[in-house]
This record gives sequence, C-alpha cells and structure tokens, in this order.
Amino acid sequence: MTNQSASSNHILILGGTADARKLVILITSQCGPNVRVTTSLAGRTKRPVDLAGDVRIGGFGGTEGMVNYLVSENVTHLIDATHPFAATISAHAVSATQKAAIPRLMIVRPCWQLPDGLKVVRVASMTDAAAILRASNTGRVLLTTGIQNLDAFSRLSEIFFMVRLIESPEKPLALDHASVIIQKPPFTLEGERKLMEENRIDTLVSKQSGGSATEAKLLAAAALGIGVVLIDRPPVPEGESVASPEDAAVWLQAFLGRST
Ligand code: NAP
Repeated sequence: MTNQSASSNHILILGGTADARKLVILITSQCGPNVRVTTSLAGRTKRPVDLAGDVRIGGFGGTEGMVNYLVSENVTHLIDATHPFAATISAHAVSATQKAAIPRLMIVRPCWQLPDGLKVVRVASMTDAAAILRASNTGRVLLTTGIQNLDAFSRLSEIFFMVRLIESPEKPLALDHASVIIQKPPFTLEGERKLMEENRIDTLVSKQSGGSATEAKLLAAAALGIGVVLIDRPPVPEGESVASPEDAAVWLQAFLGRST
C-alpha cells in the first residue's frame, strides 16, 4: 500500500537490517509527510517488523526490474541499507541508479574490531569455512551465518552444529547432526557466554557482519578461548557511503535542503 504525498521526493531504502529500520524512523520524523519513504524488503522473514512509511516486499526482478520501479514510482534518492553480505542487491542498486540517474548512498557499517586474544581464522566464503572445519578437530560448532548456503557444511557429518536462526526454518536443514536455536538480536556477553558454555561449543562460525547487536559472540569466544572462523565481507560497491543511519539522514537532508 502506498501513501502518496504531494512532495516530489520519494526515498527508497533497501532494507532488511536494523540500520534500515533506524533510518526510516529518522527520515520520517525529520521530513514529516512531505517526503515519501518506501522500504524495500526481500521477503525472507515471515513477519517483518512494522515500519513507518511505505513497504514493498519481494525482489524487483534484477537490475532492469529495479530501474522500472525507480522510474515508475518516481524515486528521487536510493539509500542502500542492506546487510554487508547482501552483495547482489547492492550491485543491482549501483547499476539501476546509474541507469535511472538518481543519487545513491550506501550504509556500510564498520567491521567488528576483533577482541584481544581471539583465536580467529579469516576465510573468504562459507565453502572455505567448511574446509577449515573439516581440517580441524572441532566437534561442536555454533553456526551464526543465517539460513542461506548452509549446504556448504552438509558433508561434515562428524561435527555437531548448533544453528542460530531468527525464525524457524520451513524445511529441515541439510545437516546430519544439528540443532536449531531461534534467537533474535541484540545479544549480551553474558547470554552468549552461557550459550557457548552450556552447549560445549568449541568453534564459532560467523560472518564479519559488524554492528553492536551481534558483537557479543566474539567477546564471549575470546573470553572462553573458543576458536572463531570469520567469513570476510564481499567487496563494497563503488560510490558514496556512510557508516551509520544517522549519517545517511544527514546526507539526505543535505540533498533535500538543496532541492526545496
Ligand atoms: P542478495 O543475495 O544480495 O539478493 C538476492 C536477491 O534478493 C536480489 O537479487 C533481489 O532480487 C532480492 N533482494 C535482496 N534484498 C532485497 C531488498 N531489500 N528488497 C528487494 N529485493 C531484495 O540478498 P541476501 O543476502 O539474500 O539478503 C536478503 C535480505 O536480507 C536483504 O534485504 C538483506 O539486507 C537482508 N539480510 C541479509 C543478511 C545476509 O547475511 N546476507 C543478513 C541479515 C539481513 P531481485 O534480483 O529479483 O531484485
């Protein structure tokens, strides 16, 4: 459902993250009803959090589909607030905004600073993470990489995986020896430590997502001497970026100030 305003400004936020949720609150409270704000979600979660402004759900149909949306909906600014590992949609946003000739900003949240004493192996992909696990003598893994691409670990039948997800999977995971735990961030150091200790976790597998809501697992792993396999981010697309939703709101205000 859309809430068409008289304004000529229509901001499209590519979302699916806490940063996007914060940004939509900042923009709607700063700009009021004179600016139309739409958040776009991929549709991965069954019950997305309620958002101010308009919401559209589902893929655009590649770059061309996004261009069509930008043009037909008179989008004037695009802010890419997707997760650092959502590389495909971010690449589409680069080409689509170039074709539609509209400004684009990306929120790139800072990487985690690794705690002192952390036993960490950095890898480039889920496949490489699985290879490290296969070559090690790990027995019990806390897997926090999300539901996608878990089949990279499917042949590691000697290892027990505790798979943390934000909602129940629709079908059984392709892992021989696993249990699923449903938890939503933010996580605390105390909670993460307890989870790892009670489940006798010896290795944590995580993406280098950054952000304070999920950082505690690294601190807990460091405190407990648990090894971490950390998957590096894909390259950041070209173009202007900021580190936070607050900075993105400032960027937008500068644009809107110029155009009003
Ligand atoms: P992705 O691999 O970059 O994108 C795959 C396809 O999903 C895109 O080509 C696009 O389909 C659609 N899509 C992705 N994000 C969309 C959005 N915000 N609005 C509309 N369509 C979107 O993305 P992903 O890694 O699967 O992530 C999907 C969503 O989950 C993103 O919104 C991301 O912010 C969020 N998320 C991802 C992770 C992660 O670890 N990857 C973690 C937390 C949250 P079309 O080509 O048809 O347009």
